[in-house]
Amino acid sequence: MCENTGMATGTRKNPTRAMSSESRYSLMEFMDEFPDDDACLTYLWRSRFSPDGEHATCPRCQIERTFRRYQTAQQRQSWTCSACGLHVHPTAGTIFHKSSTSLHLWFYALYLITSTRCGISAKQLERELGVTYKTAWRMFNVIRNSLMAEDGITLSGEVEMDETYLAPRRRRDEPKWQSGYNPRERAVMGAVERQGQVVARYVGSANRLEVEHMTNLHVLPETMVYTDTAAIYRLLTRRGYGHARVNHSAGIYVSGDAHTQSIEGFWSLLKSGIRGTYHSVSTKWLQSYLNEYAWRYNHREFTRRQPGVRRMPVGEAKFRLLLGLACRPTA
Ligand SMILES: [Zn+2]
Repeated sequence: MCENTGMATGTRKNPTRAMSSESRYSLMEFMDEFPDDDACLTYLWRSRFSPDGEHATCPRCQIERTFRRYQTAQQRQSWTCSACGLHVHPTAGTIFHKSSTSLHLWFYALYLITSTRCGISAKQLERELGVTYKTAWRMFNVIRNSLMAEDGITLSGEVEMDETYLAPRRRRDEPKWQSGYNPRERAVMGAVERQGQVVARYVGSANRLEVEHMTNLHVLPETMVYTDTAAIYRLLTRRGYGHARVNHSAGIYVSGDAHTQSIEGFWSLLKSGIRGTYHSVSTKWLQSYLNEYAWRYNHREFTRRQPGVRRMPVGEAKFRLLLGLACRPTA
């Protein structure tokens, strides 16, 4: 099951987090660090421009200057260069800038999305944030499509490729589909490096062109690719890839190294997630869900201890990663 926050231990007046690997960055800790809009804006200012909060390189003066913050009635506050008077807006260029939703709600949404194991729905986000469903939905899509989309992934070594189908929501007046065939089924192609990252794309229909497209974009030449025996993968050898096939129709699922269990594992995560959290997904938003699930998968071990860095609880590392992405200007 998914839950939003971890249990706090310690006394009631002074709760502390249990330091186990399963401990989480709690809501209380989040609120402590980001109590209001102002704290979020200051965080942006410091992380983007001014580590000490007072000095920054002025884009106009081209040297380090002292910056002051003047309280104004403006919705998006700025810091001002004390030498030339230039206003610097910490939100400029980021996903926050043109949004009428408060920074604090954005930060809270980033927290919620990363503090659950299997995601939350826009409906839940609407309830948690107290915004309209439309706003929650928009925030979600910006987060999924601007922050979680990872276009630059390159796979190598041992890669498994496969296609799967996600049934759309059945309209109320539609009969149940007969004999397992559904013309509206939607194909998703995926490739995963064993012990590595995954790429998943909504393709409409799985064919040779899509296989070629995906390998050109995401799989290094000479990589060993494992697939099932579908004809769409036959071109891989001609394109310079190693290729081993598993004959699923003959009831064989593992033959030495030849199997596609990693990508099938990802499909089952994706499908149970969509069933459990979102119930069904419309075609229009399918790629954004794939982005979110691939992002979760690709950062599943992000909490691993790194030398010289304090051990971060589950969720916190992902939250800080996503927050860091949100603080960068979008292209
Ligand atoms: Zn200046």
